[in-house]
Amino acid sequence: RLYNQVQDLKGSIRVYCRVRPFLPRQNNHISTVDHIEEGTITINTPAKHGKGRRSFNFNKVFGPSATQEEVFSDTQPLIRSVLDGYNVCIFAYGQTGSGKTYTMSGPKDLTEENQGVNYRALGDLFLLAEQRRDTFYYDVSVQMIEIYNEQVRDLLVTDGINKRLEIRNNSQTGLNVPEASLVHVTSTYDVIDLMNLGQRNRAVGATALNDRSSRSHSCLTVHVQGRDLTAGNILRGCMHLVDLAGSERVDKSEVTGDRLKEAQHINKSLSALGDVISSLAQKNVHIPYRNSKLTQLLQDSLGGQAKTLMFVHISPEPDAIGETISTLKFAERVA
Ligand code: ADP
Ligand code: MG
Repeated sequence: RLYNQVQDLKGSIRVYCRVRPFLPRQNNHISTVDHIEEGTITINTPAKHGKGRRSFNFNKVFGPSATQEEVFSDTQPLIRSVLDGYNVCIFAYGQTGSGKTYTMSGPKDLTEENQGVNYRALGDLFLLAEQRRDTFYYDVSVQMIEIYNEQVRDLLVTDGINKRLEIRNNSQTGLNVPEASLVHVTSTYDVIDLMNLGQRNRAVGATALNDRSSRSHSCLTVHVQGRDLTAGNILRGCMHLVDLAGSERVDKSEVTGDRLKEAQHINKSLSALGDVISSLAQKNVHIPYRNSKLTQLLQDSLGGQAKTLMFVHISPEPDAIGETISTLKFAERVA
């Protein structure tokens, strides 16, 4: 039994790396990735970063030809654990343009084949719930919020007014943002509609120069309540699907005003997330959840019996090498 507990703890944080392929019109086809072997990725570093090769280890590395289905396949056990009453966090980390939204949602021209983790996870969730219908009655509802400049906003509003919300950790209901719209759903289609609404609300206020979606964290939370039809007890689990703000660092000498403020907020919250996950991985006694809205929001879904999966994304282009190295270093710290 103790052995199982230790195994569970060990298995609670997993880090997968995914390399984006070159985009169709890119003529520079020299990737910074030298090779991939199981969980190890080796990159070529230019002179500026100490010319040579450098390897990083993860639970798994997906190369540029990995399909959405392959990327999702290892995530399936997490869906089962949500139905068993555990909390799960799935994150997409990486610089803007590295493929975070592609992994979580998919490309703009969505087909069944290129659907991302969100759709597949929900599809599985409803399928598994249906398979258990003789023993459990499941109730599923979703919330979708955005964290922008350390402010939490509801993305599922229909009147376009997404006022600032407070985080109140409530382990009883599991609703940490009680004022955010909570919508009951019965199928993947319901969720797709809601995700589209959320995406539209997220775009509000965005300009061509300042794509808000890359400067804010979006979090789709699926709350699952299961009533055991024979024993009568209730299980409560939730799954947070988080598309993080772009991790690129901006040059302080080049940006000022709003851009600088945004960059500082992003920087602070991503390092707070890194600090929480690495303290959990090191089994520290004190876990610094209070340092950002993101970690406060996810406090009861990070650590304890909760399961965390982080997809870290890198771009293959030589001019992205600086961000690629810092992304891989960040990820190695939490792995
Ligand atoms: P991010 O959300 O990190 O800013 P996106 O997911 O928007 O990045 O990806 C940037 C571009 O690259 C998009 O056009 C997207 O469709 C494409 N892309 C990303 N990952 C892949 C992939 N694995 N296969 C094919 N195209 C991809
Ligand atoms: Mg994106």
